[in-house]
Amino acid sequence: MGFDSPWTFLAVLALGGAIGFYASRRPRPSALGAEHVRTSYLAGVNFLVNEQTDKALEAFLRAAELDGDTVETHFALGSLYRRRGEVDRAIRIHQNIVNRSSLPPGQREQARYALAQDYLRAGLLDRAEAILEELAAAGAHRMAAMRKLIRIYEVERDWERAISTHEELAKAGRPAQESAIGHYYCELAETARGAGRLEEAKQHLRKARGVQRRFARSALIRADIAIEEGDAELALRLLRRVVEQDAALIVEALPRLARVARKRDADGGSMMATLVDSRPDGRQEFAFAAIVNDALDFPVLETLVRTQFERDETLAGLIGALGKDPATLDSRTVVELAGVLRRLAASTPRYRCAQCGFSSSGHFWQCPGCKSWDSQRPLTRFDLVAGLEGGRAQPA
Ligand SMILES: [Zn+2]
Repeated sequence: MGFDSPWTFLAVLALGGAIGFYASRRPRPSALGAEHVRTSYLAGVNFLVNEQTDKALEAFLRAAELDGDTVETHFALGSLYRRRGEVDRAIRIHQNIVNRSSLPPGQREQARYALAQDYLRAGLLDRAEAILEELAAAGAHRMAAMRKLIRIYEVERDWERAISTHEELAKAGRPAQESAIGHYYCELAETARGAGRLEEAKQHLRKARGVQRRFARSALIRADIAIEEGDAELALRLLRRVVEQDAALIVEALPRLARVARKRDADGGSMMATLVDSRPDGRQEFAFAAIVNDALDFPVLETLVRTQFERDETLAGLIGALGKDPATLDSRTVVELAGVLRRLAASTPRYRCAQCGFSSSGHFWQCPGCKSWDSQRPLTRFDLVAGLEGGRAQPA
């Protein structure tokens, strides 16, 4: 059986609740009270059918003051309001359920969990957090409350509590989220590094590696610290591992590699060449990274960019339209063209989430759209159309 709208469905449910109330053999309120409930309930159903949701809400709230048997209808009504984005109404409905004195403990918990979800939807994180922390201590909604709390702690950047809540979930038999925990330690490490507390940052990174081996983000931060401390060998070793591990991270590793290589003078060029040779399937990524990070002073990278100009049909066509042959460009022109593309890349999306498609010009380890970790992939082609339109990048 189908319904024209969710409100019609809910109206049928509400009518069922009202009938159930009268069929019940439980002790009743006074005859006058029951009559009041019946009138309010039927009025509410009538308003719902006619999609007069404001008036329906008032009628149901009036009925709910007297009747505890139709609580499931109120849960359905509350969640429907929330799904439609009418959070104020959802809060009123769920608050009303919570306030009933004769509610069984299970339903009170359910109502408080629903209320926490309303607050989350409304962006009232502190109120949601207060309820969820109580629900996370015990009861039927314990696991769900912990998972929602983790989301709140991530927004609040309270990484310590996010870690301990993940550990609680793991203790309760839920699969451990190594990737997320590793990132929390990296966040703590970045904060410590930013404040100049390098030893503390290293400790957090050790913990990150403890939960997730071969962790690229932790290697990148450790390489930053090594560069800061003048330990070029360690930085190089870590960055080489990142490049070997994931070609998509070449764009992150290259500016750091360039810093290390430039300090080595003549040796730096051959170091970069060895690295590029170690990852033959990453040449497009290296060329893109060289352009956006202005690293064409390394001959091996300039050659890769030149090859990219020839192979990429759009770029080759653009260069041809300028009256030049991509195969015979001089170094100065290659650098100038790369500069144009770099400015173009700065105004167009450079990363896209593999989970939800969110695109941004800056890199996020956690997708702002769907909150997945490690889901953003760099785009290694220039979006000429978007660039010429003035950019469609979302703020990073
Ligand atoms: Zn996403």
